[in-house]
Amino acid sequence: MRSGLASVLEYLVLKMLAGKEEVVKALYDYFVEEGSPSTIATKYGLSKHQIRGYVQRIMEKTGSGIKARVLMKYTIPIIIKIKPVTKKVNGSVAICGLCNEELPIQIIEDHIKKKHTDIVNEYVNSVIEVLRRSTTLKGVL
Ligand SMILES: [Zn+2]
Repeated sequence: MRSGLASVLEYLVLKMLAGKEEVVKALYDYFVEEGSPSTIATKYGLSKHQIRGYVQRIMEKTGSGIKARVLMKYTIPIIIKIKPVTKKVNGSVAICGLCNEELPIQIIEDHIKKKHTDIVNEYVNSVIEVLRRSTTLKGVL
């Protein structure tokens, strides 16, 4: 099983690869800028309910608000540079640029995670590598 850190990174990397950059930005605003769910929801065109769901996933993976805040603060500026591998066809369908499969948007992250595990792991490991070199994070990770 993946450690808490790898699991959080995988979650964020998958959002970026799936073209859901706004979710990653919303999490940054919530944990680092301490924005309210309703302000963040309006800013990124998401619902408050969705924001709470994303926040909850991160909390489950990190186990504490402080840890989540530190992780979001240092990992998102790196992760946000990842380019999406999917292209939206319309509001409900996207094409995976890695295998050209057409997929419902709701399952795109699952698809990338299962079919393109190597690429996801490569990104996760490269972020962990950057974090390991950071002296600021010693003892937090
Ligand atoms: Zn694919």
